[in-house]
Amino acid sequence: MGKILSVEDLSMSYGKHEVFKNICFDVQEGDYIGVVGPNGGGKTTLMKGLMGLLTANHGKIRYKKAEEENLIGYLPQKMMMDDRAFPATVKEIVAMGLLCKKKFPKFFLHKDDEKIQSILKKLKIEHLKERRIGDLSGGQLQRVLLARAMVASPQILILDEPTSALDPKIRDEFYEIINRLNQEDGVTVLLVSHDVGSVGKYTKKMLYLDGRLVFFGTYEEFCKSKDMTDYFGFFAQHQFCWRHIDEQSTGTNN
Ligand code: ADP
Repeated sequence: MGKILSVEDLSMSYGKHEVFKNICFDVQEGDYIGVVGPNGGGKTTLMKGLMGLLTANHGKIRYKKAEEENLIGYLPQKMMMDDRAFPATVKEIVAMGLLCKKKFPKFFLHKDDEKIQSILKKLKIEHLKERRIGDLSGGQLQRVLLARAMVASPQILILDEPTSALDPKIRDEFYEIINRLNQEDGVTVLLVSHDVGSVGKYTKKMLYLDGRLVFFGTYEEFCKSKDMTDYFGFFAQHQFCWRHIDEQSTGTNN
């Protein structure tokens, strides 16, 4: 497992409004990183920077396999298709994830159909293939959008507040799917979320952004960091670090 992405002294702004500055961190292949921080802390801006949608005003973002076309899959914050009357089937929506990566002319090949079939099967939504997206539940639609993000087999998956519109049971099922993509397929995941409970439960590392990189590392490192106690206070620090609280309550902390 090597480094897949390196962020070096990165600063980003909108005009004169500086969102964050001098950020440095490395992402390893297979990492599952929870990106957290207060509203306006710069999480979405950083994700857009990583995807090349916004330009940095200082610093570098380096990808190990920059030449590969299908490096990043993205599940955006706002559920698209608010208009449930949008006349598209599940298969067509997922196909967009392949077509948008093709150069003109955009032909649809037999192997594309196989890729769609395979991702629908993996996400257990094969049976929805011919359904109109307007007929789906929120949880089903979210899986379809995940299939669209994953159909081109990206190495990195970026999710921005993916479960904000889902009820708790569906949310947990969704996180289980992401967990499997990470553990079984080795997909590197960056998960932006306000849901600190889920982030702490599923992700392996935490990146806390608040106009600067406050913390990047494992939960164990976060939990033991004196700097983080000073920054958050003891109580809040160990609320993030739910594993530590678990260990304390079961008396297994060392
Ligand atoms: P977060 O995702 O952590 O809530 P954002 O990256 O969305 O934070 O926003 C960081 C800051 O940048 C906020 O102050 C926000 O108002 C500002 N901002 C976000 N998008 C734009 C934009 N398109 N134009 C100008 N300012 C923006």
